[in-house]
Amino acid sequence: MRKLMAYTTAALLIAGLVPIAACAEHTERSRYVMYLDYSPETRTLSARMTLDFYNDTDNALNELKFELYPNAYREGAKYRPVSELYEPAAYYDGESYGNIEIAGVEGAAEYAVCGEDDNILSVGLTAPVYPEERTTLEMSFTTTLARVNHRLGAGENTVNFAHFYPVLCSYGREGFLEYVYAANGDPFVSACADYELFFRLPEEYAAAFGGRGERVAENGTATYHIVSENVRDVALVCGKDMRSRTAQAGDVSVEVVAFGSDPDETTVRAAAESLAFYSRTFGAYPYPRYTVAETDLCAGGMEYPAFSMISRDAQEKTLVVAHETAHQWWYAAVGNNQFEHAWMDEGLAEYSAALFLEAYPSYGYRSAELVSRAESSYRTFFSVRSQLCGEADTTMNRPLTAFSGEYEYGNIAYYKSMLLFDRLRLSIGDRRFYSGLKEYAEKYRFRIAAPEDLISCFYRTGSGAEGLFDSFLNGKCVI
Ligand SMILES: [Zn+2]
Repeated sequence: MRKLMAYTTAALLIAGLVPIAACAEHTERSRYVMYLDYSPETRTLSARMTLDFYNDTDNALNELKFELYPNAYREGAKYRPVSELYEPAAYYDGESYGNIEIAGVEGAAEYAVCGEDDNILSVGLTAPVYPEERTTLEMSFTTTLARVNHRLGAGENTVNFAHFYPVLCSYGREGFLEYVYAANGDPFVSACADYELFFRLPEEYAAAFGGRGERVAENGTATYHIVSENVRDVALVCGKDMRSRTAQAGDVSVEVVAFGSDPDETTVRAAAESLAFYSRTFGAYPYPRYTVAETDLCAGGMEYPAFSMISRDAQEKTLVVAHETAHQWWYAAVGNNQFEHAWMDEGLAEYSAALFLEAYPSYGYRSAELVSRAESSYRTFFSVRSQLCGEADTTMNRPLTAFSGEYEYGNIAYYKSMLLFDRLRLSIGDRRFYSGLKEYAEKYRFRIAAPEDLISCFYRTGSGAEGLFDSFLNGKCVI
């Protein structure tokens, strides 16, 4: 602890940073404090992290477990981060690898990198931590980024930092949940926590992120002090020549940044208008700011709390922005197990985007067209699979690793789920549909909802909503 305090003071003095109001009082959440140094030449992020762990489980814990997502990028990983479909666009410079090396864990009795694919850090504690108690660990680690246009990677023009640190595994009924990476979908399940970051990199770079932050540049180095509270994750995008445009969505300031070019006017408008629309429709946006970064990403976009990454090459950028912004409600505020039940947030984000575009016809989309596009893609998938394989697995509640690839995953988790919400709306009517979604957004805010939690928000409607969910989820419905 002392070492960290000394480093804190030194970092603040050197960088001339005035600490922004971080929540010093103890919340009933864990808190990460990280000192990060990024070197573009070596593509390495040297880090020291203090985790003030809060035990919000009902059990005394003798060990803590963390996901080591960067190890999915290492040579020889069993569960690679990029599917074959996206590999050519992602690995722009040919094969490239990254990983995370844990140099030490202070405050622990022992630690080991384990899991099915070196994807877990297990930390044995010196004494059990009881429910509602806290314990502190200090970790040193180095994350190396692959040359890849992906969530975590040194891209062609920009650098994406997501899941770059040991992330506490979410706690389930039988202990910590351990998941391998999956190229289809977003294999991330994490509880809300508080974060404070001191992030240093060469002065010619600028960083975009969610949360509140300040930059001080001195002696060729820029230091960002970032505070983000009650969020599942933190992510940043860095690059040279960052340009931004801002807009307001009610009280929330919205910023879109791009690197080496100005952000697209339509992207700024879509980000602000969709945020305002979802706030009116589902309940207030839960964070003080919203940032969208146009970056090197092999697929359309990726969501983080108060922050979205959008591929600079995305086709149908407005649709992508509307989808990622909807994830601020479905994933960020209301969490779900994205590894086991990806349909919950993906289908809701896709259908929410259609609702937004229906309300704002100036973008040139019609909701009915988006629904019928999903329908025809799903029907083609069903027919191709039935003919080639004799049958098509259309169940929706299954782990990401149980999907055969992007094609199946996209048709089930996005399209079929979007159709489920569309049929639900038609069947119970707008009033009940929107009130069910509002209830879901409010009741499970900052928690991780199970499928039955979502379904229960429509029980009272008394119009067979349960049967509809059941027939879609278990693959019994005909579309
Ligand atoms: Zn999505």
